[in-house]
Amino acid sequence: MQDMPHGSMTKRQPMKIILAQPRGFCAGVVRAIEIVERALQKYGAPVYVRHEIVHNKYVVDSLKAKGARFVESLSEIPENGVTIFSAHGVARRVEDEAASRALPVLNATCPLVTKVHNQGKRYVAQGRTLILIGHAGHPEVEGTMGQISAPVFLVQTEQEVENLNIPADSPVAYVTQTTLSVDDTKGIIAALQRRFSDLVGPETRDICYATQNRQTAVRELSELVDVILVVGAKNSSNSNRLCEIGSEMGVPSYLITDGGELQPEWVRDARAVGITAGASAPEVLVEGVIKVLGRLGPIEVSTLSGREETIEFRLPAELAAV
Ligand code: SF4
Repeated sequence: MQDMPHGSMTKRQPMKIILAQPRGFCAGVVRAIEIVERALQKYGAPVYVRHEIVHNKYVVDSLKAKGARFVESLSEIPENGVTIFSAHGVARRVEDEAASRALPVLNATCPLVTKVHNQGKRYVAQGRTLILIGHAGHPEVEGTMGQISAPVFLVQTEQEVENLNIPADSPVAYVTQTTLSVDDTKGIIAALQRRFSDLVGPETRDICYATQNRQTAVRELSELVDVILVVGAKNSSNSNRLCEIGSEMGVPSYLITDGGELQPEWVRDARAVGITAGASAPEVLVEGVIKVLGRLGPIEVSTLSGREETIEFRLPAELAAV
């Protein structure tokens, strides 16, 4: 092969890949997965998990391969089947049904979701009408509404606040789904404050630390990149919010389950591509996306310094020593 004359070809600059920090698994997800794994070790397969333990197919499939069975209804669980409630929490009637059948239950509800349940119960005990800010149909919302033994009013938009059939001077309180964006709830809380004269809410927002940190990180990332890829499931609330925030910051943002969904034209002209992952997406899927990008051309990977997370949640006592 003939040598190229000097300067006849410009070397392609590597595409910068910048990883958000923190990204991916939160303490609630780590705990939920560990509960299923330890239950399998202690009791043997199968164990039964009501609903996806966390919203991620890769995680669910890996646990299925180890002997977990995922069900939507307790009626699918045989007598004495070890039963695990997912990280999103469950309604009281589900707990009652499990108790009436004496199913051995391990509860993987995230402690931060339980905190919202307890907060809501306290408000109702104080004689307040409870309003939940959240997304209809999300299992966490169904669980929270089903934990409160009084009517709970779900609001998803500021307009729905206006339409609430509650007198303006009635004592009311609100709680929120843990995985919304702070900005989403800000407008709705302001609308509640305008609408009701006697309104209380939690001192610190219910948006959980992990959601908050991942949202802050994606905002930082958006200042540095031309495109953002959010690794997460389509039904993962916090992953969807990350993608929305990227778009709101003016950066084209795409939610992808894994590297297989990456479309080369999204990144063709990008000098820097940002990657983050929802709280239920494992790091191996982020690595897969980086591999796919590496096949498109030279890449240079770096990670933002971000915020270090040290939070860990305790396992249920019966599994702590497994
Ligand atoms: S996202 Fe937050 S509330 Fe949900 S499981 Fe993780 S730590 Fe818990």
